[in-house]
Amino acid sequence: MAGDAPRVRFAPSPTGYFHVGSARTALFNWLVARQAGGTFVLRIEDTDAERGREEWVDGIISAMHWLSMDPDEGPFRQSERTARYHQAVDALWEGGRLYACDCTRDQIDARNKEHGIQTPGYDGFCRDRVVTREGHALRFRTPDEGITVVHDVIRGPVEFPCSAMDDFVAVKSTGVPLFVLANVVDDIDMTITHVIRGEDLLPTTPKGVLAWEALATLGWVTDGSTGGPSRPMPGLPVFAHLPMLVNEQRKKLSKRRDPVAVESYRDRGYLPEAFLNYLGLLGWSPPGGEELFDTAQMVEWFRLEDVNHSPAFFDVAKLTHMNGEYIRAMPFESFIEACGPWLTGPLAPWPEANFDPAVFAAMAPLVQERVAVFSEVPPMVDFLFLDQPVVEEEAWAKAVAGDELAGTILAAAIEAYSSLTGAWERDALHAATLAVGEGVGRKLGKAQAPIRVAVTGRRVGPPLFEALEELGPDKTLDRLRSALERLAAGSGR
Ligand code: GLU
Repeated sequence: MAGDAPRVRFAPSPTGYFHVGSARTALFNWLVARQAGGTFVLRIEDTDAERGREEWVDGIISAMHWLSMDPDEGPFRQSERTARYHQAVDALWEGGRLYACDCTRDQIDARNKEHGIQTPGYDGFCRDRVVTREGHALRFRTPDEGITVVHDVIRGPVEFPCSAMDDFVAVKSTGVPLFVLANVVDDIDMTITHVIRGEDLLPTTPKGVLAWEALATLGWVTDGSTGGPSRPMPGLPVFAHLPMLVNEQRKKLSKRRDPVAVESYRDRGYLPEAFLNYLGLLGWSPPGGEELFDTAQMVEWFRLEDVNHSPAFFDVAKLTHMNGEYIRAMPFESFIEACGPWLTGPLAPWPEANFDPAVFAAMAPLVQERVAVFSEVPPMVDFLFLDQPVVEEEAWAKAVAGDELAGTILAAAIEAYSSLTGAWERDALHAATLAVGEGVGRKLGKAQAPIRVAVTGRRVGPPLFEALEELGPDKTLDRLRSALERLAAGSGR
């Protein structure tokens, strides 16, 4: 690897399910590494012991694996690097860049009020006081004047006047170093060249830059935590703050309201290739405007400079549609194989012994045309493998109980199907059903609705006559008779 190859990192805090926004951040980092022979580092920012949970860490690692974005280095864990952060705190303290502060929030608020200051900032009260370090928060002494400029590839230079910047708390009174410091110490030690992350972190970036520069001035060296020897400090990384993801109301995606967990997409049977393709479009699009592309094309075409800074709409319907396109484009054998976990084992809704791969294979081309995600496969064929169909009550109410001709149609279908003379196959069933419809003055589409619900339990599914052919005469006729009985019983039961 060339010496100037990028070193990027994905640095999630494990405080919940793996968010689609985090997955997009991981992807854009990964792309930058892959296209330039670089290194993709995974760093788990797990210093918040109260909110972090080990299962969230596992969730991140397994979802990244599902998306074929395994890290080249790491996972490093901040919880294992506390001693290193304390070294940085000591250096900054000894260099006079930190000072201890014993002000309470109430005292700060009261002083601000007295001076007519609306913003809840810190007034620097303890800057020149002598407060013991032990047991007190340590604040970073920010410059009084000047401008901190964050050079952002996506946004251009973003200026933060130092006069508007607080002496921020870098170490809590409990002695625990805060996010900004740990984050910067890690980026230095891991010789990160590009910090690519969500725009929600942009306001903290100037603090990080100041801390970085302070350490540089103090002659700080890296700890060689990524395997190499300890080296002089690297220069500031390139920054890229990725646009926020919003829902259809243009509101920031919320963990509570919006379906943001990557795990849930995996578990509902989205294809990782389709999911990555869609993630790639969140804030970026190829120069040629293509919408469907594979990972290799993304690696070739992606440029951090081309990322858009306006919010990106996370459109689940579009993602689902795209997934359907990927499914339809699959070679038939791959489709069958990908259906496997949904057909046998714990996800299959029928008794294992009932499943017949040959029957499924016969229906599969029709299923492949109709599903957008794999979790839709079992409901589409379950009538074939369950002893009794799952009757969707809404479908029953609408297409059977709510249709005054349903009884006549079902009775006529029983009559017509049981007196078929030739083979039990789709064309004969089609012709017989057409005749049933004509008998009641209905076109085929409307005539078959009560039959479909009686036999499959649902209003949507594979084409009816292919379905009946696979189900066979005995089960078809049994189900038509039970439906007629249920209807006659009149209670709707
Ligand atoms: N741990 C931070 C977060 O999850 C991200 C830090 C970073 O990328 O710099 O929000």
